[in-house]
Amino acid sequence: MKYLLLLYFLPLYLFADAKVFVYHRFDDSKHQSTNTSLKELKKQFEYFKTNNYEVVPLEKILTKLQNNEEIPSNWVALTIDDAYKSFYTNGLKLFKEYGYPFTLFVYVEATNDKYGDFMTWDELKETKKYGDIELHSYSHKSLVKLLDEDIEKDTQKAIELFEKNMGYKAKIYSYPYGEYDDRVKNRLKEFDFISILNQNNGSINSKSDIFDINRIALVGNVNIEEKIKYNSLEVEWIEPKEYPKDGILKSIKAKVDPKIEKAKVFVSTYGWQDVKVNNGIIEIQLNKKLNLARNRVAISTDYYTISNKLLIK
Ligand SMILES: [Zn+2]
Repeated sequence: MKYLLLLYFLPLYLFADAKVFVYHRFDDSKHQSTNTSLKELKKQFEYFKTNNYEVVPLEKILTKLQNNEEIPSNWVALTIDDAYKSFYTNGLKLFKEYGYPFTLFVYVEATNDKYGDFMTWDELKETKKYGDIELHSYSHKSLVKLLDEDIEKDTQKAIELFEKNMGYKAKIYSYPYGEYDDRVKNRLKEFDFISILNQNNGSINSKSDIFDINRIALVGNVNIEEKIKYNSLEVEWIEPKEYPKDGILKSIKAKVDPKIEKAKVFVSTYGWQDVKVNNGIIEIQLNKKLNLARNRVAISTDYYTISNKLLIK
């Protein structure tokens, strides 16, 4: 019986929806909180290789989404934010060795003003031979904290400088710090990007919103076998939509598949709690004071099938 159960659950866990991962620095021990050592990176690459995951260019996944086609569940795309120098000096060689494509997102001000720790335009142009280079804002401010007009100015400046230096228009955007809300997303959608990437745990399937692509962050030594299990739970969030003005999270209300009977909700610093689902509606009164500047709320059916929302003060 035990074995039968195992057999039943195993395929679900092995391949379920495509995954997009995000890295920051490589073999740069001065910055542990954003670093991936080359030893660790090699371990992850070996895992993809030996478990039949296919590392594809991010654009290949986006094209499937645009065409409303099924996305192979063993596809993995790798992205890197900020364009730190350590990708150029350390990380890139391993990507080349494995022939793994990548998408690198540029913090334009840092590159343009030659901040020491970041890649130069020339290094980015050379790196373009092996992967795609895209946009990660001009000033790397949390867009949630900017007025509409400042989001527009920052993005416009980033687009122009990027095109002038790289010789083509960026078509994909990743949010600084992965921070956004509906307002920020709508402002960004006014530009010509084909896709926008966040930094929430989850996966990509043919129903995913191309302007809200989940990316799983890989930092430090991770259990890649665990990380790759994350799947997106399809949730229509009704409440909350954004950080409440008085800092009190009154309730969570959302729509999920009516077949779901039980779920868990998560609030930063409070942890998980069980919640009943009535005909696809989750509704729970909380009246909890949000304790952090950056709070996460989430709905999950099991630990790995999840929908996240950020509430940023
Ligand atoms: Zn960044």
